[in-house]
Amino acid sequence: MKSILMLMLAGAIFSTPLCGQYESDVIQTSEGELEMSFIGHGTLMFKFNDLVIHIDPVMREADYATMPDADLVLVTHEHGDHLDMTAINHIMKEDTRVVMTETCMEQLEDFQANVFKNGDGGTIHGIEIRAIPAYNVEHKRSNGSPYHPKGVGNGYILSFGSTNVLIGGDTENIPEYKNLDVDINIAFLPMNLPYTMTPEMVADAALAIQAEILYPYHYGQTDPQELVKLLKDEKGIEVRVRDLK
Ligand code: ZN
Ligand code: ZN
Repeated sequence: MKSILMLMLAGAIFSTPLCGQYESDVIQTSEGELEMSFIGHGTLMFKFNDLVIHIDPVMREADYATMPDADLVLVTHEHGDHLDMTAINHIMKEDTRVVMTETCMEQLEDFQANVFKNGDGGTIHGIEIRAIPAYNVEHKRSNGSPYHPKGVGNGYILSFGSTNVLIGGDTENIPEYKNLDVDINIAFLPMNLPYTMTPEMVADAALAIQAEILYPYHYGQTDPQELVKLLKDEKGIEVRVRDLK
């Protein structure tokens, strides 16, 4: 199954600057084209048929006054490089649905959103969404508290037809990645220190997840070529470096 899908993916992918100045990859899924635009850092925009999906939209990465309105907004956690209500307010329309965490909601007043905890799931605008854990195991502040405590932030698995995309959020190579109950085709994993993962941790997570396509994102000053080197013998995992510092 995976090898068939890989062939399909390999034949169908091209990379073009489709959305303004943002580079995009397009993937053919069983239910239509998925266009993934790389806005920067942890911020992404997907288009799936007629739907626009913004992931962690923030003004520091783009002027959302000029971005397409959202059918769906996903926010992984409450940190300022992920939750920015100015950006979200620019892309809200009447039927926009927003999925965020409880901690995000606590910071907002009079805002309607779907609160997903780790393990929650649902189908919105025909897209199946699962919230998965995202947390630090090793990397902690000097006072011992993790940058991302377990149970607070979300990663998301989005299903576009039979293509499953994992958005890591701010996380390390958590043990849950070894027991995912869905096959992942495309994964976005964060790689900046001290907040998320080293290249070695991303490589370890990638081996557990076994996505055909791996995008390091949220990588800050970390050199993504280190990850490319670590995974060069893994023929089943294609590491794609995009401008996601
Ligand atoms: Zn964070
Ligand atoms: Zn972050």
